[in-house]
Amino acid sequence: MIQLTDPITALRGVGPKKEEALAKLNIRSIEDLIRYLPREYQDRTEVTPIADLRPGQQTTVIGTVSRLTQNYYRAGRRQMLRVHVSDETGALSILFFNARFLKKAFREGDQYAFYGTVSQVRTGLAMAHPQFSPAEEREEGILPVYPLTQGITQKQLRDWQRQASPVYDQVREYLPEEMVSRCRLMDPGRALANIHFPESRDRYREAKFRMIFDELFILQTGLMLIRSRSTGARGIAFDPQPVEQEYINGLSFPLTGAQRRVVSQIMEDLESDRIMNRLVQGDVGSGKTAVAEIAMFKAVRSGYQAVLMAPTEILARQHYEGIAPAFARYGIRCGFLSGHMRAADRRDTLQRLETGQIDVLVGTHAVIQPEVVFHDLGLVITDEQHRFGVDQRIRLREKGTDPNVLVMTATPIPRTLAVVVYGDLDLSVIDEMPPGRTPVKTRSIGEDLREDCYRFVEQQLAKGRQAYVVTPLIELSESLEVRSAEEVAEELQTRFDGEHGFGAYRVALLHGAMKQEEKDRIMEEFYGGRIDLLVSTVVIEVGINVPNATVMVLENAERFGLAQMHQLRGRVGRGGHQSYCFLIIHGESEVARQRGEIMESSSDGFLIAEEDLKLRGPGDIFGTRQHGLPPLVISDLARHGEILQQARDEARQLIEEDPQLLHEDHQALRERVQGMFGSGLTLDL
Ligand code: ADP
Ligand code: MG
Repeated sequence: MIQLTDPITALRGVGPKKEEALAKLNIRSIEDLIRYLPREYQDRTEVTPIADLRPGQQTTVIGTVSRLTQNYYRAGRRQMLRVHVSDETGALSILFFNARFLKKAFREGDQYAFYGTVSQVRTGLAMAHPQFSPAEEREEGILPVYPLTQGITQKQLRDWQRQASPVYDQVREYLPEEMVSRCRLMDPGRALANIHFPESRDRYREAKFRMIFDELFILQTGLMLIRSRSTGARGIAFDPQPVEQEYINGLSFPLTGAQRRVVSQIMEDLESDRIMNRLVQGDVGSGKTAVAEIAMFKAVRSGYQAVLMAPTEILARQHYEGIAPAFARYGIRCGFLSGHMRAADRRDTLQRLETGQIDVLVGTHAVIQPEVVFHDLGLVITDEQHRFGVDQRIRLREKGTDPNVLVMTATPIPRTLAVVVYGDLDLSVIDEMPPGRTPVKTRSIGEDLREDCYRFVEQQLAKGRQAYVVTPLIELSESLEVRSAEEVAEELQTRFDGEHGFGAYRVALLHGAMKQEEKDRIMEEFYGGRIDLLVSTVVIEVGINVPNATVMVLENAERFGLAQMHQLRGRVGRGGHQSYCFLIIHGESEVARQRGEIMESSSDGFLIAEEDLKLRGPGDIFGTRQHGLPPLVISDLARHGEILQQARDEARQLIEEDPQLLHEDHQALRERVQGMFGSGLTLDL
C-alpha cells in the first residue's frame, strides 16, 4: 500500500521526467502532493447546449469538429487557430492563439468536450483556450484546479491526487487535543480529503476552515518564535548620551514632529540593552532615510558598525550617494556593496569592512552573502522591507552578534492589522509629511482622453520637467487590451524623441528584464536630466528620487492595486514644482473607477490602504509578497481576519507554555513551522 512518506515516483505515471517537473512545485513525496492545494474548483457537472450559451458563462460544451482554420495577423507574427464546433443546437468557435501545435490535437468529424469561458467575438460566440478532451474521456463532477508547471497537465495532477487519496488516513493530528476541540477543527486527514475532492458543501467549508486555521496558526507561531528569540534578550547597549544630536543639528532641515517621536523611540531601544526589533512605517516621502541616518550615526558614535540594505541597485546606490558625503563630514567612513562591482573593489571593501575601516555599509542583498564579515556590527537596517523575505531579514541580522534591527517600509498597511502581520516587530509610524509639499494633482481618465494627457506631458517637458509613463507589462501579451511598455515606448519615441522621431526630447524604456548595467545607465541618465521621459514597468516603484520629475502617467491603471498606484505616484512631487498623476483606465470596470476616485481624492497612504482592503483587486496590499512573509496558499489576511485573530491567540498561548517549541508533543508542529519559513528560520536555538 502507498505510504505518506513514499517518494512521488510510487505513483503510476510518474517517471523521471514528471518527477523533475513536480520537484519544481516542491512536490517530492506523497505527503507533499496531498498538501499541494487546489487554487479553485470547476463545476463540470453540467453540459450546456450551444444555443443556450451566454457570454461570461463558464461551462462544458460537447460538440463535433467540422473544420479547422488558421489566421495570421500583426504582420504574420501572431497566429490564431479556429476550431469550428457544432452540436444539434448551434455552432461555436474555439480559439487558440499562437498554439499551432494544437492543430494536430483535433480530427474533423470527431466529438470533443470543451470547458472554458464563453465570450462574444465579432463572428459570434467563442471560447478561447478552453480545456478539452475527446468527448468519451471527459472528466465530470466538481473538479479541483491546481496551479501547474510546464510538463504537467491538470488531468495528470488530478489523477495522481486520486491515486494518493488512500494516505489521507495516515495524516496525524499535530495540534494539541484541547486546541482541536476548542477551535472545532476537522481531523487533518479528512480535511485534506475534502479539500481535494469535496464530499459536500458543508464538509468543504469545515475542511477549508481547518486549512486556513493551520496556515495562519503556523504563520503566527513562526513569527512569535522569531520575536521571542530576540525580545527581552540581552543585546548591545549604545551610548546613553544624546550623541545623535550633533547629526540632527547638522541636517539642512528641522525634523518633523513625527520624525522626532520615532527617533526618540529608536533611541530608547538603542540605549537599553534589550535588542531592538523595530518597524518604521512611513508614507512615501515622509523622511524615513533621515531617521535611518540618525540611528546609524548613533551606532557609529557608540563604537559599532551599521549596515543599510536596500532592495534594488538603483535605490542602494542612491542611498550611498546621499549618505556617504553627509557622514564624511563627521569622519564616518562609508562603503558600498552590490552584485555588480569590479572584483578588486569588492575585495577591498570586504577587507576594510572586516578590519573595521568602514563604519557604515550600504548595499543591496549582496550584503548578506556569506563572504561579508563585519568587524563589530551593532545595527542593521532594511529599507523597503516589504521587498525582502523574512529569511533575508534574519540572515542580515545574523551578520552580527545580536545587533539591533530596524526595518523601514512605505507599504501602508492599516494600523489595525500591522501588528498582526508584523508579529515579530515593534511598530513606529511617521504619520506626518515634511512641510511645504504640495499634493500631487491626480486625475483618472478614460482612453478617450489619452491624447489630452500626452499633450499635457509635452507642455511639462517643454518647461524642462521630466515624466514617467508606467505600464503593467513589458511585452505584448495575448490579451490585446493591455498596452505593453515596448509598445508605449515605441509610440512615445515616435512622437517625442528627437533621435528616433519628431520631437525635441529623449525617451527611454526601462524594464525588469534588462541587464543591470543597462538599467543603471538609464536611471543615471534620467537623474542627470539627459532623459526627459521614462517609459517603464513597475521596476521604478520603490524609493527612487528625481525631484525634477513632475508627471506620472499610469497606462492600464485598472491593472494596478491601489497601494501600488500610491507608491508609483510617490515618485513625483518630490521637488518644488507642482506635480501631476494621470491614471488611464481601460474598459469599464466599476472597481477601477472607484479606485481612480480614491486616488483623486486622497494622498494619505493609510486611508488608501483601508480602501484597498474593502475593494480588493490585483496587486492588493495583502498579497504576502508585499510584506516579505512566507507565501500563504489558502488564507487571505484581509478576508480571514477573524480566523487570524483566533489563530494568533492560540499561537500566543502555546508559545507562552513552550517558548521554543521543545516539548515532545510539539515536534510535528515545529516541523510544519520550519517547512513554511524555510531555511531562513533556524529554530535550533
Ligand atoms: P521616504 O520616507 O520615502 O524614504 P525620504 O527619506 O527619501 O522619504 O525623504 C524624502 C525627501 O524629504 C528627501 O528629499 C529628504 O531630504 C526630505 N526630508 C526628509 N525629512 C525632512 C524634513 N523634516 N523636512 C524637510 N524635508 C525633509
Ligand atoms: Mg525611502
